[in-house]
Amino acid sequence: MPRTCLVLVRLDPATTSGEPYRIVDPHEPQLSVLDLGVTRGDGIFESISVVSGIPHALEAHLRRFVRSARLLDLPEPDPLLWHRSVLAAINRLDPVPEAAVKMVMTRGVEGQSIPTGWVYAAPLPDFGQVRSEGVRIVTLDRGYRSDVATTSPWLLTGAKTLSYAVNRAALREAARRDADDVVFVSSDGFVLEGPTSSVLLRRGSALISPGKDMGILEGTTQGDVFEWASKQGIPTRTEMITVSELAASDAAWLLSSGRHAVPIRSVNGVPHPVDVPLTGQINSFLLHDRGQPSPQRPQ
Ligand code: PLP
Repeated sequence: MPRTCLVLVRLDPATTSGEPYRIVDPHEPQLSVLDLGVTRGDGIFESISVVSGIPHALEAHLRRFVRSARLLDLPEPDPLLWHRSVLAAINRLDPVPEAAVKMVMTRGVEGQSIPTGWVYAAPLPDFGQVRSEGVRIVTLDRGYRSDVATTSPWLLTGAKTLSYAVNRAALREAARRDADDVVFVSSDGFVLEGPTSSVLLRRGSALISPGKDMGILEGTTQGDVFEWASKQGIPTRTEMITVSELAASDAAWLLSSGRHAVPIRSVNGVPHPVDVPLTGQINSFLLHDRGQPSPQRPQ
């Protein structure tokens, strides 16, 4: 079995016969240098956790993929086709404890109006240490107000686009400041999200996150953690959170597919409390109880 698997998804509406997707060699060139995903970052993606061969929150990821496509005026993705392509990639992967599968759709080669689509599955590194030891974060101004989603929808703040150069630059800035990760803050002073994660904090018994109306990505992990917490009798809510409220919280985490719940152990150089038992419970839920029924190998 291959260590990684690449599936090309057929998205040309003019081709109606033949296989809807194709397994190809991930080590061979597959993409045109004229693809707008490469030249403009003009496309969308999803990154999905796969634990013991089971994709987590696949339906939520597919819904967000469709939402992102609508925000970018891309052709509407067919969730069934993408679902089957994801399972095809996972089912050809080595059996590993944790993997990630990435779905990508770009606007395609300039001038052709045919999107390019692929699914890539690969094993994940062991995140055990970061999940228990946590990360040191710095808060960085994103430069957008908290109402940017309504005032300037063309900034695509709620879409998971391929344009992640700013997010990568923010992580390099964090490293320059001797930190591991970032929490973006709106220009009017509210906590938003990390470059690849949602923010969660505990105040007393309640779990709190910024709301999706703040111009941030609607996190599938955050959504599932809230659902799990409610079942445990833990109160949850979204609210506008200032940086001082984040710093004064009883515990805080970065949540994402792949890394899951990573505790924040310092904020702007000041040590932050880590809730070891709750971190363990959340990660145990995310790893062991979040999966969907075992995927069938597509015919
Ligand atoms: N916010 C941003 C900007 C992200 O890139 C991500 C994940 O990559 C998230 C939040 C968390 O989303 P999810 O929990 O669905 O992985």
